[in-house]
Amino acid sequence: MKTNKERLIKSIRNIPDFPIPGIQFKDVTTLLKDAACMQILSEMMYEKYKNKGITKVVGIESRGFIMGPVLATRLNAGFIPIRKPGKLPANVIEECYTKEYGTDCIQIHKDAIDKNDIVLLHDDLLATGGTMKAACSLVKKLNPKKIYVNFIIELEELNGKSIFDKDIEVESILTL
Ligand code: AMP
Repeated sequence: MKTNKERLIKSIRNIPDFPIPGIQFKDVTTLLKDAACMQILSEMMYEKYKNKGITKVVGIESRGFIMGPVLATRLNAGFIPIRKPGKLPANVIEECYTKEYGTDCIQIHKDAIDKNDIVLLHDDLLATGGTMKAACSLVKKLNPKKIYVNFIIELEELNGKSIFDKDIEVESILTL
């Protein structure tokens, strides 16, 4: 009999050479369209964080906006979006980071988090970790009590976990 993790891994579609040659793109839409897989994933995420006192789940645009709110609802936490520049309407703070080609910036509303919050940052996939590390720096500027980081998938060979500060607990549901 297949374990739940095996079932989820099998449901993820690999697209070679997308969006550019050499990238093995992990497509989670094939997991998300399967009702049983959605239940399993949401349960596994909830089990990991149900006793951590999470008050805010922060999702990174755009694939962090899918399971982020699902998890926030189950944890009885609020949901906060981190977005690309020019999308959030009120006062924001920004963090920029270097990517393979050029620079990217992300923003969060200044009043999204306060010193009483225990924050869980979520995105679908950990590759080099650059995006999530910038998101952690952004959230740290708002002085929450603690930051947790969660991904659905971690690409083990890229060793993205190693770039995070030791005080941040980084976990993924599936390792590929
Ligand atoms: P990184 O900053 O290198 O960890 O890249 C993470 C971001 O890029 C996430 O938002 C992912 O959704 C996306 N990403 C990077 N590599 C892949 C991949 N091989 N398959 C699917 N998404 C990816």
